[in-house]
Amino acid sequence: MTPLLLLALLQSPAASLGFEPGADSMLADWKQVSTYLNGLAQRSPYVHVDTLGRSTEGRPFLLLTITSPANHDRITAIKRGQKLLADPRTLTDAVLTELRSRQPAVILISNNIHSTEIASSQMGMTLAYRLATDPALTRLLDSLVVLMIPSMNPDGLDTVVSWYRRYKGTPYEGGPLPWLYHKYVGHDNNRDWFMVTQAETKLVTRMLYNDWFPEVVYDVHQMGANGVRLFVPPFQDPVNPNLDPALVAGINLVGAQMASALYDAGATGVAHQERYDLWWHGGFRSTPTRHNMIGVLTEAASVRIASPITWTVDSLRQPGRGVNYPGPWPGGTWRLGDIVRYELIASEALVRLAARDRLAFIDRFVGLGRRAVEAGRSGHPFAYVLPPPPAQRDPEAWSGLANVLLAGSVEVWRAAEPFTAAGRTYPAGSLVVPMAQPFRAHAKDLLEAQRYTPVNDRPPYDVAGWTLPFTMGVRAEVVAEPFTANLVKVDSVIPTPGRIEGQGEMFVLRNQTNGESRAVAALLAAGQAVTVAGDSLVVRGPQARRILGEQAALHGFTVRAVPVAAVAGKTLRRLPRIALYQPWTGNIDEGWTRWVFEQYGISYTTVHDSDLRRGQLRQRFDVIVLPNESARGLLQGVDSTRIPLQYAGGMGEAGANAISEFVRGGGTLVCLDGSSNFAISRLNLPVVNILGGGASGPQVSLFYAPGSIFGVALGGGSPVTVGVPDSLEIYFENSAAFTVEGQARALATYPAEPLRSGYARFQERLEGKAALVEVPVGSGRVILFGMRPQFRGQTHGTFKLLFNAVLLAAP
Ligand SMILES: [Zn+2]
Repeated sequence: MTPLLLLALLQSPAASLGFEPGADSMLADWKQVSTYLNGLAQRSPYVHVDTLGRSTEGRPFLLLTITSPANHDRITAIKRGQKLLADPRTLTDAVLTELRSRQPAVILISNNIHSTEIASSQMGMTLAYRLATDPALTRLLDSLVVLMIPSMNPDGLDTVVSWYRRYKGTPYEGGPLPWLYHKYVGHDNNRDWFMVTQAETKLVTRMLYNDWFPEVVYDVHQMGANGVRLFVPPFQDPVNPNLDPALVAGINLVGAQMASALYDAGATGVAHQERYDLWWHGGFRSTPTRHNMIGVLTEAASVRIASPITWTVDSLRQPGRGVNYPGPWPGGTWRLGDIVRYELIASEALVRLAARDRLAFIDRFVGLGRRAVEAGRSGHPFAYVLPPPPAQRDPEAWSGLANVLLAGSVEVWRAAEPFTAAGRTYPAGSLVVPMAQPFRAHAKDLLEAQRYTPVNDRPPYDVAGWTLPFTMGVRAEVVAEPFTANLVKVDSVIPTPGRIEGQGEMFVLRNQTNGESRAVAALLAAGQAVTVAGDSLVVRGPQARRILGEQAALHGFTVRAVPVAAVAGKTLRRLPRIALYQPWTGNIDEGWTRWVFEQYGISYTTVHDSDLRRGQLRQRFDVIVLPNESARGLLQGVDSTRIPLQYAGGMGEAGANAISEFVRGGGTLVCLDGSSNFAISRLNLPVVNILGGGASGPQVSLFYAPGSIFGVALGGGSPVTVGVPDSLEIYFENSAAFTVEGQARALATYPAEPLRSGYARFQERLEGKAALVEVPVGSGRVILFGMRPQFRGQTHGTFKLLFNAVLLAAP
């Protein structure tokens, strides 16, 4: 078929939708986007659509493959070729020569992961249409496979489009959503790329590192509205030490190509080296870089969803003209269509570059993989070893860490026999992560401690540290020098089934694992009495035996059976009635808390402002959990000028008074990080947050830790710390730190020099301060977390503190 005939047959997005993608105030929802793309795929020999699976809320999650018909005919061979290029250990010279002659370059363009950054969801339709119809582009598709994810969050696209449509033409047009645009994690859907907890992350991760192995990943974003019009790489310093120089230069090359195409087209306001750095791991532009893929990000200035904004040049915050910003934007009206146009030019610039420099991209990809393997062979370090339980406190955290690595296509091996490495002996069953593998950077960066050093006193773009053995509470030992062992490669790790040991109908749990908290929730939900006896939990009877037998087998913990005897301690007789407060601010920490509770079978009721204001909370609940939110955010919420009245105003005085009455009446209030400030002031607690009042960046002379891991020492004697080790690592993200007086008790205290991974300025200020506090108030109690016990679903090592707080510290 000739291109002309194709053009006649294929419907443009405008013809299908009835408006041009990017038109003012007009948005296509997921049904419209997917219908258009499916139709295009049916009619164009260049476009193929796969459904990778279902989104969190059940929408089809699509991947487009756009390449020449000849390449589509041999697509399986092309995928096999990418897999070989990704792992140079299996690549013979003859195969490489053959691949160099025929293999197209493969790029992935991912749109709309952040749903309010909506232009790319619309742009993708035009890009696919142009790739399928414009002869100048179609002729490149012999040398190139373009993978495109039209929306990385179809649920969120629909959430945002329906909100926008509902309030179009009202004072709330283009305003904030009162809830998250991903069911659980909102904006953090782009903070999940190594932990891989959510449905969408799982689908894309499998496609990326098992199926397609593209050489370039381009993640299309938008940022605030009042700065430069488009950020393109080079990124800002610092550069993560695990990134190869050729990879960094490759990223710079793509960014320069995009910028020059934009300026060639007369666009202005394109900037390099804005606030996005090359330090962080966990975003969709950063995790692929640890897999030798060129990870590119663009960030366009936003509009009010689809409504234009007009700027005078003086009201903009732009850098002066310079090498990183040769053409400042003159101001004027900025529209959705402008973002679509910029993103389209940037995407097509990448398409042209990758097709033209096909061989350079292939050779670079192979070279990066080869150097990663060589670096690992020479032993800097040689391997990490994760000894098996009982050397691990929580067998599921141990297997979970290995499975996180496996999800990122890191090779993990199991020792079939004991072995000795660097003078230490490890038992059979130890997991070994050799560094001589292509995705070494991913494994190493997740297993080692981060040492962030600010450049020009700038804070990191996101968090500074993420070391999994710390966050997950898993022992992982680095081995610097080569060793040999009898190793078997594994696909997944499950903990050895646990069991009930000993004789008798009374059962003792040491409560050291998260699996035991799940079992406690199941026991209480079944009406079984659980006694908190010193540092153990005690239950009795045949039904408890059945529940514990099942749970121990599934989750790898051991229960001791003993003869029935009298036991002193507090006894819980049913599952505490847990309320989880959901402010109308789209609170991400609330979403993660909800997700973690659901993973561990902990039932909860979501409560909103109106539920709190109604009062009489003690009749309905035993525990109230306030997620991380400022005191002001809790009390005042979003102003009614920005959001419809039913979502405005926060919990207000009535809600705050009801919470106070709840605690004095015997309830347990659990405050996560920022919400501690609310409890301290509203309940007059004898506690001071010494970091309250806001350090804002490393340039100031105040304490600063933007996302780091600290060690703390735990004190016993509270239900919150039952089963928790004497010391552990906690996650700190601009968190609180407390001094206590009177009846308030510090349950976790910072030692000298507590920093384990990330960055902290003036860490000595933490010494002796509390990270976790329990305060009796009236006949109830308040538990203050100066940390993130469930941070982004990563911190398995501190989930237990939150579980104990809601299960065991209930009245
Ligand atoms: Zn974004």
